[in-house]
Amino acid sequence: MNPFVVSVGANLGDRAAALQGALDGLMATPGVTVTAVSRVYETDPVGGPEQPAYLNAVVAGETTLKPHELLTCAQAIESDWHRTREVRWGPRTLDIDIITMGTAKVTSEVLTLPHPRAHERAFVCRPLLDVDPSARIGDQSVADLVSTLSMDGVRPTDLALDAGWLEP
Ligand code: ATP
Ligand code: MG
Ligand code: MG
Repeated sequence: MNPFVVSVGANLGDRAAALQGALDGLMATPGVTVTAVSRVYETDPVGGPEQPAYLNAVVAGETTLKPHELLTCAQAIESDWHRTREVRWGPRTLDIDIITMGTAKVTSEVLTLPHPRAHERAFVCRPLLDVDPSARIGDQSVADLVSTLSMDGVRPTDLALDAGWLEP
């Protein structure tokens, strides 16, 4: 089993339902065991066109899947939520990005690990700190990243994703 961390985000349609759908989809994926789910944050968009605020969360677990297999599963769940790609960093019903798979380094046409922009994104690092205070993205500690990144656009909500047997 290899550890994984994914970031989930949505800013179109029923955002909370999409995040829950992403979690449900991951939990239903053979070879994937979810072990931790962050709080849900409302976040200001970063980059791209003017667009609505996001809901973001981070899901961590263990998997027997290879990195590219997990990417395929994540993209299938995005498709279930009618994810389209018209504008780079444009609004979307659901985005599932793989942030890390342990210390694996991957550079392919379709997959880069660690996610190359995760370390500069408060909307990834803040929820990641919830699920693993000792998390690292490459050679950087997420606790250090959270202490240096501006958290102005990242607001915790009262929403909670339902991971079934997991403690909140
Ligand atoms: P960003 O990657 O900056 O968050 P995005 O999530 O909006 O942007 P997408 O349109 O979801 O970008 O994905 C574009 C491509 O990124 C995908 O087709 C996928 O092949 C590739 N990709 C590369 N590395 C990763 C990764 N770690 N997780 C998810 N997709 C990745
Ligand atoms: Mg993304
Ligand atoms: Mg993506």
